[in-house]
Parts: sequence; C-alpha cells; structure tokens
Amino acid sequence: MKAAIVTIFPDFFRGPSEYGITRRAQEMGLAEIQVHDLREFTHDRHRTVDDRPFGGGEGMVLKPEPLFECLESMGLAPREERLAGRVKQSVILLSAQGQRFTQKVAAELALLDCIVLVCGRYEGVDERVADFLADRELSIGDYVLSGGEMAAAVIMEAVMRLLPGALGNEASTLQESFTVDVTLKRSGAADSTCGSNGLLDYPHYTRPAEFRGIAVPEALMSGNHEEIRRWRRQRALEKTLRNRPDLLEGAVLSEEDNKFLAGIKSGLK
Ligand code: SAM
Repeated sequence: MKAAIVTIFPDFFRGPSEYGITRRAQEMGLAEIQVHDLREFTHDRHRTVDDRPFGGGEGMVLKPEPLFECLESMGLAPREERLAGRVKQSVILLSAQGQRFTQKVAAELALLDCIVLVCGRYEGVDERVADFLADRELSIGDYVLSGGEMAAAVIMEAVMRLLPGALGNEASTLQESFTVDVTLKRSGAADSTCGSNGLLDYPHYTRPAEFRGIAVPEALMSGNHEEIRRWRRQRALEKTLRNRPDLLEGAVLSEEDNKFLAGIKSGLK
C-alpha cells in the first residue's frame, strides 16, 4: 500500500513514520509513505498556501490551487474511477466535519493500493477540495484539532497494522475491540474465544499472578479453556455495556451472550 500525505508540515511525519508498526510495514515492503510538502506546489515568492475567506469571518483557509496541483502530480486515476471503485485508490480529506473514522473504515482502507491523506490547517480547506478533489472526508472524532496531521497519523497507524503480515500474529487483529470477523458473523459462531465480534476487548493480565495483593482472576489460572472463554466473553460484555452500550447493537451476540446481558440488566433495575 502507498500512503501519500499532503501537508504544510512535512517534518511532523518523521516521528509517526519512523516508529512502531508504520516503520515495520515499510521495512517489510508492505507500505510506502510519501510526504508531500504543499508549499512546493505554490508559485509565489512567499509560498502562500492560505488566504482570507470570502464573506469575511475568522482565520485563513487553505487555497485550492496548490492542493489540486499536488494531487494532480501524483498520477492518480480520475476521481470518477476512484469513486466507482474501479481502482483501489482513495483521496481522503481530514476534516472535523467528515464521516467518523472507525475500525470498519480502517479495514476498508487496508484493502486499497493507495490512500492519499490531505491535511487541512487554519479554519479549514476551500470547499472545492471536498467537492471536486477528495473522494471522502474523514474525522477521527468529535473534537477540533488545529490540523489534519495528527488525524492522518492516526489513520495511517490504524490502517497499516491491518495489512496482512504487518503484525506478527494475524489473529490478534480479530480479537481486538470493535472488530467483527465477517466469517464468524456469517456462521453465527459468536462465542469464539478469539473474536471480539464488535465488542470491546476482554481484560488482559500477565505476570505476576499477584501484585500488591491484587490477584489475577481465578478463571484465567484454571487452565480450563471453556471457563477462560466464558470469563473473557462475559467481561467483554460487561465492559461494553458499561463504557460503550452503543456497540452492542452492531455486535454479533450468541444466545448465551444475550442471556448474560439480560441478567446484568435485570440486576441494574
Ligand atoms: N473550521 C473547522 C470546523 O469547525 O469544522 C475546523 C478546522 S481545524 C481548526 C483545521 C484542520 O484540522 C481541518 O481542516 C482538518 O484537516 C483538521 N481537523 C480538525 N479536527 C479534525 C478531526 N476531528 N478529524 C480530522 N481532521 C481534523
């Protein structure tokens, strides 16, 4: 996969691309990160990328010309081809007004050959970029950042760890929070020990078995696979109900899960 980032702060990406999974994915030849300095696509002495908004108001807005020129220099397929899914490329504008970036979106992006991440700044980006250049707008959450760089780094990390081979253990991405394994969803085998099936992940413990008088839950020490599976599933259900009840709607739940949840809910009444 190629990840091309468009930014006025190219040095920002030294850190995110030189550590952890993004570095590993590059070293393994699974990913290539290209950082494009937007100012290189300006034509004036001051390398101007922003201007005042028409209609007045606060702040400055990123101008369309350098963004269009930068994207055109990348040799991407035409926007219609990308939108029709005829090529595995996507141009993403980072925006607080975008659709929410989720694990599901990360999994979709991980199937592409090329993602372009356009980082806004100031009050935002001339709307013609969202309307005629980008294929989609993505937001990493309901808060406002000063620029798209942090958001681009988040997306890059979440997507690259899903590239086959990027993590040592493929199964670990199935077990994680928010992840629905479509094969399990189809078969209805929702009680696998290694699938979160859309819930939050279960709690993890490691050595020592007792720390400052706090013992690791007995079920995990039992060596009984069925007991461990049930314990993990129930803790994942409890935590999801407590912290993210919204996730239960899209989760793949077995009869056993529903019975357990009904028990907790009736206890809460
Ligand atoms: N005026 C905009 C608004 O109220 O929606 C906020 C602009 S923000 C200060 C500048 C840039 O930061 C945006 O163009 C976008 O690229 C990025 N940004 C801010 N919040 C973001 C978020 N939650 N997700 C993704 N990008 C974000």
